[in-house]
Amino acid sequence: MAVTGSGATLWHALGMGPLWRERAAAPSPARSGMQATAQLDWDGLEQAVAACTACVLCRTRTQTVFGVGSRNATWMFIGEAPGAEEDARGEPFVGQAGRLLDNMLAAAGLGRECTGEKAVYIANVLKCRPPGNRNPEAAEVAACAPFLQRQIELLQPRIIVVMGRFATQALLVTDASIASLRGRVHEISIGARRYPVVVTYHPAYLLRNLADKSKSWDDMCLARACYARLVPTPADTPFSASSGTTPP
Ligand code: SF4
Repeated sequence: MAVTGSGATLWHALGMGPLWRERAAAPSPARSGMQATAQLDWDGLEQAVAACTACVLCRTRTQTVFGVGSRNATWMFIGEAPGAEEDARGEPFVGQAGRLLDNMLAAAGLGRECTGEKAVYIANVLKCRPPGNRNPEAAEVAACAPFLQRQIELLQPRIIVVMGRFATQALLVTDASIASLRGRVHEISIGARRYPVVVTYHPAYLLRNLADKSKSWDDMCLARACYARLVPTPADTPFSASSGTTPP
């Protein structure tokens, strides 16, 4: 399948997969940013994001939206970009869509305030809000990609759940629809590590398409099953047979 658009841009910028050798010959602005962020710890990375002016979105943001949750989490959830409420509060997935996400996480025994095996970290592909919530431009994705890459490298999640068409296509480098990508575990590689990726709908989409909520729950169950295969399951984790999880 041909790789085009923002997905290809992120792929190149992150240096993931078979295209990494190609990129080494011609460093891009995103590549320079990646080199600059490669040594940063969490606090240094957050400061770098807060000061970033690498794309035009810096001119219209109220503030950057770095991420939320435990920096020791084994679960990572990735969305598209901040919306108006996220831009105002500086935290991803607040407002109505955020509450739905929190409900889904809680039903799975997870949460942004949790610790240990129940902890999650939530971030977006873009750290600044596109004006009017328009779709991100490829150049913006490329400029911001080093930050997401470093977040993944620092977190080293055992599983990534990617939410929504844009983030999915960017991370998996495809133009395929969410419907065609759901239901199986994908994989991305960053550096020497590989990460399983499960695709699901964006909570904002689910608010408009309630019939697909059950599909999103199926995706969460797939992610839990994948996670359970990766990690021995103590009795008190969200994946134990006695946990009694139910759809949100
Ligand atoms: Fe920088 Fe990313 Fe914000 Fe663009 S979206 S200004 S690259 S932090």
